[in-house]
Amino acid sequence: MTTINKNKPVAVTGATGYLAGWIVKKLLDEGLTVHAAVRNPDKKEKTKHLEEMATNSKGEIKFFRADLLSEGSYDEAMKDCELVIHTASPFFLNVKDPQKDLVDPALNGTRNVLNSVNRTESVKRVVLTSSCAAIYGDNIDIQKAPNQTLTEDIWNTTSNLKHQAYSYSKTMAEKEAWKMKEAQNRWDLVVMNPCFILGPATNPHANGESLNFIKQMGDGTMKFGAPPFHMGMVDVRDVAEAHFKGGFTPSASGRHILKGKEASVLDLANMLRPNYGDKYPLPKSELPKFMVWLMAPMVGMKRKEVKRTLGYPWRADNSKSINELGMKYRPLETTINDFFGQMVEEGVI
Ligand code: NAP
Repeated sequence: MTTINKNKPVAVTGATGYLAGWIVKKLLDEGLTVHAAVRNPDKKEKTKHLEEMATNSKGEIKFFRADLLSEGSYDEAMKDCELVIHTASPFFLNVKDPQKDLVDPALNGTRNVLNSVNRTESVKRVVLTSSCAAIYGDNIDIQKAPNQTLTEDIWNTTSNLKHQAYSYSKTMAEKEAWKMKEAQNRWDLVVMNPCFILGPATNPHANGESLNFIKQMGDGTMKFGAPPFHMGMVDVRDVAEAHFKGGFTPSASGRHILKGKEASVLDLANMLRPNYGDKYPLPKSELPKFMVWLMAPMVGMKRKEVKRTLGYPWRADNSKSINELGMKYRPLETTINDFFGQMVEEGVI
């Protein structure tokens, strides 16, 4: 049981990120002080929306310069904090050098952040943003899980530097966090394992995989058909709420699968069609798997990933998040329409 004092500041790593924007907003709206750790606090295009949020809320924000690859750089941001929310990690599906671009910042970054936690006597709890990617690698893995359903007991054993390197980076980072938690007894660790995150952004002009995906729904990339890809999806606002609850629920512990609903890319297009079908080239059907397999290298996908993921169903048990954290998930129709609607309104699509 760990009780966090709401009068103490909360440190958030990667505060400029898509998910972190909503976590920061939730903390500020609750009247808390946020220590926002960001790579470059001078880049106003990355921090302006957070400053505006603070102005319009009961809370306060302070920015700190920190980089995952720089040991000790999070010390200052954690000063006086009882709660640290560690979201920072590179999320890119296509990279040149997976070790340098993904694994080093995710793994060494988690180590650096937790070394700062170890040096900061006030910290009692760390909430870590892991991912369902640390639970499974490709959809075919789910077929081998008990009841063909992912649970918090399962770990990704199929990803590596050459295959699903992002998932590998998240698996390595979460494992390291558990190892460092076990090596001491001052702070506890609560891990969030969201599946694919969708929903409006606090900074809609930023880049990121979730934002890239929604842009592709509307820019014609899928006008000849959607890949037969099924995945778990969750609203970014719900994921932020789960991080907040994970921080302030004294009994919270362990991993938490965060999932609103499983759906295919075509299901998402069908949810958008009534509002946007006449103006945007949403996919109307699914491409055959062999065609995606053939075209894969041309669209930046790997044939092995296509083979092991497309056409397989996706299932995960989110009951722990509901029972332990009291999570209520928004309907996916709301999430996807709010997200697409925001992109249209902002002129991004
Ligand atoms: P995002 O918008 O790209 O945010 C990533 C954050 O990490 C940014 O603030 C980025 O800072 C920071 N970062 C990256 N490299 C860094 C470095 N070397 N030093 C310091 N900060 C660094 O991605 P997101 O979707 O919000 O992801 C946030 C977290 O959720 C990640 O841990 C990701 O693995 C996890 N997650 C995401 C999804 C999803 O579907 N989006 C699903 C499951 C889990 P800059 O702004 O300076 O680049």
